[in-house]
Amino acid sequence: MELAQPPAIIPPLASLKKHLESITMQPNPRKLVAGVDLGGTAVNYTFFDGSNFLIEGLCEHPSLARQGPEVCLGQMADGLKLAADRHNVSLSEVAVVGLGTPGPASANGILSTRGSTNFVHAAWSGFDIRGALAQKLGVPVVYINDGNAGALWGHYVLFGRENQATSISAIIGTGLGGGVIVDNQVLKGPHGFAGELGHVLIPWQRIPGLENSRPVCNCGRLGDLESVCSLTALEKSLLPAFLPKYPGHELTKQSDLRKAARLVRSLAEKGDPLARELFAAQAHALGLFFDQMINTFDPDALIVGGGAIETGPEFQQWFISEIRSGLPPQWQEQGGIPIHIMPNGDTAGARGAALEALRSLPSR
Ligand SMILES: [Zn+2]
Repeated sequence: MELAQPPAIIPPLASLKKHLESITMQPNPRKLVAGVDLGGTAVNYTFFDGSNFLIEGLCEHPSLARQGPEVCLGQMADGLKLAADRHNVSLSEVAVVGLGTPGPASANGILSTRGSTNFVHAAWSGFDIRGALAQKLGVPVVYINDGNAGALWGHYVLFGRENQATSISAIIGTGLGGGVIVDNQVLKGPHGFAGELGHVLIPWQRIPGLENSRPVCNCGRLGDLESVCSLTALEKSLLPAFLPKYPGHELTKQSDLRKAARLVRSLAEKGDPLARELFAAQAHALGLFFDQMINTFDPDALIVGGGAIETGPEFQQWFISEIRSGLPPQWQEQGGIPIHIMPNGDTAGARGAALEALRSLPSR
């Protein structure tokens, strides 16, 4: 005689949900994501539990990207372990790693055949940096362009995790990176080129002082945003255009314009007229560029970040007012779009990469 099967105990849906939550709420094991921001000069790490970043400030090492993939991948893995040890994190708690690097790269982290900006080593050409790091760590890795990562961080700080907002971020560094976030989605594009804002052409001849110059970007374009608004632009376009107006200025004694370019920010903060004029030109370039973005995307916010404006608040506010004065007249209805300074500038890339990792988790 066959015994009847006891009826399956099916808990009500609400108690099942509570049970699942109690499992995931247990402090151990935690479910974390990591962010790794690999730049040409530094690698930066962070850990995120979905609410808090476990590393408050910078956690970085000099980047060995120039020594090629093998050395660099080893460095990233060692650095992540070191950062984990230092902040009482076990790598077994890390569900996904978000990796940000300079582009150009495919949306899935295959670096361009021309290699990545600042990663001068032949073996980077066409290299699958996302796949290689995942293999090295034994943890899933998601890829994000570093400009997009910064943009994602700025957007998150302004609008929180759940939102339908649109923002445009421009990040002024050696070049000009950034990102476009529409309805809380980072635009990457099928080829990974969405958000390559530095190579958008602008009417540079309208910028006072540049009417007769021909700014050329490293990408070969004449008059794109990066050719006027970047550290490279200071050296190649702006100092040559403006220095002759200031005979006897201390920067005229500097024969190496690259070194001179690096001195401009601190001079500008002190109010030096030449340095302020150089930054005003960059701000006006941003104004012209943002006008295009406003008329294309109708964003909720514009965000400016990068080393150029890692300065005191007085200079940052002056820079924003210069951007506004470079904006062509707006429709009255468009006038109120705020311009923000990127929060936590140095850690924005790693934090944005961690946010991208979090977004890849189906349950979060
Ligand atoms: Zn360019």
